[in-house]
Amino acid sequence: MNTSALEPHECFRVHSKDLLGRVGTLTTKSGEFQTPHMFPVVDPNRTPFGQKFFNELGIHAIMTNAYLHRRARVQRPRENVHDTLQFKETVATDSGAYQILQYGGVEVKPQEIVQYQEEIDTDIGVILDIPTGFRSDAARSEWTVSETVRRADEALRVRKRNDILWVGPVQGGVHIEQVRRSAREMAKRNFSIHALGSPTELMESQRFEVLVDMIIAAKRELPPNRPLHLFGAGHPAMFGFFVALGCDLFDSAAYALYARSDRYLTAEGTVELLDMEEFPCSCSACSGRTPSEVRKLTVPERVDLLSTHNLQACFSELRGVREAIRRGRLWDLLETRAHTHPALKRCLNRIASYSADLERSTPVVKPHGIFYFGPVSNNRPELQGYKARLARVPINAGSTVLLLPGRWRRPYRADPRYRSLVSQFEDERSVQIVFYTLPFGPVPSELDETYPVAQTEGLDTGDSNEHLAKAEMVIGYVNRLKPRMTVLVVQGDYGRAVLAETRRVLPKTRVKPVDGEKTEPETIANMFGKLIAA
Ligand SMILES: [Zn+2]
Repeated sequence: MNTSALEPHECFRVHSKDLLGRVGTLTTKSGEFQTPHMFPVVDPNRTPFGQKFFNELGIHAIMTNAYLHRRARVQRPRENVHDTLQFKETVATDSGAYQILQYGGVEVKPQEIVQYQEEIDTDIGVILDIPTGFRSDAARSEWTVSETVRRADEALRVRKRNDILWVGPVQGGVHIEQVRRSAREMAKRNFSIHALGSPTELMESQRFEVLVDMIIAAKRELPPNRPLHLFGAGHPAMFGFFVALGCDLFDSAAYALYARSDRYLTAEGTVELLDMEEFPCSCSACSGRTPSEVRKLTVPERVDLLSTHNLQACFSELRGVREAIRRGRLWDLLETRAHTHPALKRCLNRIASYSADLERSTPVVKPHGIFYFGPVSNNRPELQGYKARLARVPINAGSTVLLLPGRWRRPYRADPRYRSLVSQFEDERSVQIVFYTLPFGPVPSELDETYPVAQTEGLDTGDSNEHLAKAEMVIGYVNRLKPRMTVLVVQGDYGRAVLAETRRVLPKTRVKPVDGEKTEPETIANMFGKLIAA
C-alpha cells in the first residue's frame, strides 16, 4: 500500500463515535487496521509468534522496541523490522524511552533513534521523549515536557521519510498543568499520532482517577483528527474506560508478562491459573483444555498457551468495545465493567465528572434508546444532554400546570390511563403538561417524544433518595414556569415525594393535589377544565 501521498490527518478515518470514544481505521504504508487497537508488544530477542499466528487472531499491527531491536541486531544492525518479527503488516516501534524511566539512561542520541527507525522501515515511530514518571515533582515535570518538545523539533528536522507516521508524546505525569502545556505544544507540530506517557505506574497502583484527569487534559488540547495512544495499557478490563475518554491505541506486553506468572486475563479481571477449574472462554487456546491439563505442560508451552489466550481476551474485549460504540452502548459497557472492581467504580465516577466533555462528543441521536439502571446512570451523557435541552425549552410562564406521573410507557402520553386527559388539554395555550419521571425528572409534553426520552428503558421505581433528588428537579422546573396553579396527580412514593417538594417550594394556595390512585381521570379532567376556565 502506498501512503506516501497521505497527509498525516488522512491516515485516520473515524466511522462511529460514542462518549469520547471512536471506531476508526488507521492506515500505514504496510496496511490498515481498526481502532481502538492494542499493539501487542513483541520482544525482538525471542522467537516471534509471526504473521500466521497474529492473523489467525485478527491482529494486523504489532509493536516492538527500537532500542532493544538495535541492541539485539549486532550481526545485522539494520535488518528490516518486518523481517525480524516475521510480520509484513504494520509494525510500530517504541523509542526506548521506557528504558530511560526504568534504568535511568540510554546510550543513544535522540536523532539517532529517529534515523534508526527509518532505516529498519518502521511504520509508526516514536521520538525519544523523556517520560515524566509519576514520582517527578513539578519542576522535573516541567523540564521533561520542555525537553520532549525540544526533541520533537529535532526529530521532525532530521526525519527523511514521510511515509512513516510519527508519534508526538505528551508528558507531564500527574502534573495536569504540564500535561496541558505538553499537549498544546505537541498539537502545534506535524505529528500523525499523539501518545500519553507514564500511565503504567498509575495503573499498577490503581490510581485511575489521576489517569482520567491526565487523559482529559491532553484530549482537550490535542487535534481530534489525530489518534491518541495510551502507552502501556494492556488489561482487557480497562480498555472500555480509556476508550470512553478518547484513547484509540494501546500497546502492551502484559499478555506475555502475565502468562509468565501463570495469570489468566479476562475482561472481568485477572485470575490465577492455580485457582481455576474451568476456562470461561472458548478461544483457540482454551477450548478443549482444562486448567489442570495446562498446569501440567512445560513452562514454555504453558506461557505460549496463556499468552495466546491473554491476547485473545484483549482483542475480544476490543471488538466488544467497538461494537458498543457502534450501537451507542459504551456507557452501558462501563457500568458493567465498573461492577467488577471498586477501583473501576471510582474510575467511572471520575469519568462521569467530565460529563460535559462526554456529552459534547456523544451523538445527539443514537440507533437505540438508553438503559437506565438507577442513580448510577444519572451521569450518562444523554441524561446530561437532556438537562441542557430542558433548560432551552421556552417557558410557558403563568400557565396552569398539570403534573402527571410518567411511568411504564414511552412516550409518557401513551399511558392509557391519562392518554385522553393529555390530548384534551395539551393544545391549550394556558396549560403546561409536565410528567414527573424517574430517569429524567420533569418531562414537559413537548419533549415527551424526543430522543432519548421516548426510547429509554429503565426502572420506573426507585428508592427514597432518588425520589427526593428527582422531585427537586421536577419542582425546580415547575417553579421556573411561575404557574398560576399546579394540579399534581399523586401516585406512589415518588408522587408523594413530589407533593412534599411542592409544599416546600411552591405557595400552598397554588397547588392542588389529587389522589391519582383513587380519582378517575374524567373527574380530574372536569376539575382541571373548570380551573382553567376560571
Ligand atoms: Zn481463552
